[in-house]
Amino acid sequence: MLPYKNFSSKLQLVKHGKLSLLDNVNFFLNRIEENKHLNAYNFVFGCEAKEQAVKIEEKIKSGSHGKLAGLVLAVKDVLSIKDKPTTCSSNMLRDFTSLYSATVVKKLLDEDAIIIGKTNCDEFAMGSSNENSAFGPVLNPYDNERVPGGSSGGSAVAVAAGLCDVSLGTDTGGSIRQPAAFCGVFGLKPTYGRVSRYGLTAFASSFDTIGPFANNIEDMTQVLQVMAGHDTNDSTSSPMPVPDMINNLVLNAGKLRLGIAKEYLGEGLSPEIKKAVEEIIAKLKSLGFQVEEIHLPHNEYTIATYYILTTAEASSNLARYDGARYGYRSENSSSLMEMYRSSRSEGFGSEVKRRIMLGTYVLSAGYYDAYYRKAQKVRRFIKNDFDEAFKKVDIILAPTSPTVAFKIGEKSSDPLEMYLSDIYTTSANLAGIPGLNIPIAKNSAGLPIGMQLFAKQFDELNLLKMGYYIQENVS
Ligand code: GLN
Repeated sequence: MLPYKNFSSKLQLVKHGKLSLLDNVNFFLNRIEENKHLNAYNFVFGCEAKEQAVKIEEKIKSGSHGKLAGLVLAVKDVLSIKDKPTTCSSNMLRDFTSLYSATVVKKLLDEDAIIIGKTNCDEFAMGSSNENSAFGPVLNPYDNERVPGGSSGGSAVAVAAGLCDVSLGTDTGGSIRQPAAFCGVFGLKPTYGRVSRYGLTAFASSFDTIGPFANNIEDMTQVLQVMAGHDTNDSTSSPMPVPDMINNLVLNAGKLRLGIAKEYLGEGLSPEIKKAVEEIIAKLKSLGFQVEEIHLPHNEYTIATYYILTTAEASSNLARYDGARYGYRSENSSSLMEMYRSSRSEGFGSEVKRRIMLGTYVLSAGYYDAYYRKAQKVRRFIKNDFDEAFKKVDIILAPTSPTVAFKIGEKSSDPLEMYLSDIYTTSANLAGIPGLNIPIAKNSAGLPIGMQLFAKQFDELNLLKMGYYIQENVS
């Protein structure tokens, strides 16, 4: 679809005068216009993107450009960009303008990426279908009656439909990997702490991560290389050094030990997805990889644990939206209490309210020990399972989602059914490990199927190497 294979080849084309960056930005702007019905963007910054294209093209010609010069980037609308709106797809923040840029945004701009717009998502990143947005649902480009996945649905669609080169999403329980699987693109959730979250609107602070969507592993790696690293503005970002990933993507067959868990290939998994994942595993074996069975005995508790802990954290994080400090304030109130109540009632959508109530409940005096404290303990068991598994293997292979993209409206009236969309993804956030979605096949209806790779904490390099190997040799 794009007139280049990846970002490196695009940069070469611009350098040699074979591609004009302005034409390229116009190409994306036209495609965004033609695909408006997908509703992938909340805001498009056409004029500025064009101005940047001209400036950056000059820098490229004079050799004074940054590492991501001319990369056209879309940013999920939960990340701050100075002087631009950050709405979190919520009426609560519909008129909010960011006072500063998120560290990731700043780092990417410093390397001359061009931000073309902000993408639609589930409200405050809560959801698996992108149906919970004050800007309306995002449509799956493969079948407009289906969801793109969530919560970073707009970012997944922006890459899948050719509306940008790379996009940023956030992943608290699967919101990068699941929409990447539903839309047939690559999506990476880095290790907790690998990427600064300064400037990200918090949902569940001990889970939230920021990562890229891309059409190929090379682009994803280049963007991660720039995004990753310690940030003095985020005390949860890790001082662990970031290795050179870009020049080390090539993997010799058989060099990594692979693991599969029967907990991930059992009941509830669509037979077509199971078959597609098993075919990849078989091919990898035939190419010389050793595949071992590992066990994740606490896997059955991941969804319950995830929803207790994340709603608790969300109820606390979202307390700041009270009508006084940020965003929406109800006009119809005669007392302070009433102002709080009606601002929050009118400003938040129903899924956000559901989570605030659930989170407040699990943290309440009578139930804290029974739910919150117990879930914290189970979280540790889940992490220990992965620690054990990674003593034996380097990479764990799994499906990303139990189904392909489902129909709009199919699960929206049943929150529990919706929560099960995250059955294979939340464990990585509970354990803090990195996870990668790779598009591997299409089902009989032509809908994308994704496979997920996990690695141990801070081992993004092996994750990307394995992803690159599969991209080049298997799928
Ligand atoms: N679907 C999950 C949820 O609704 C994941 C959200 C996310 O990763 N931001 O909580």
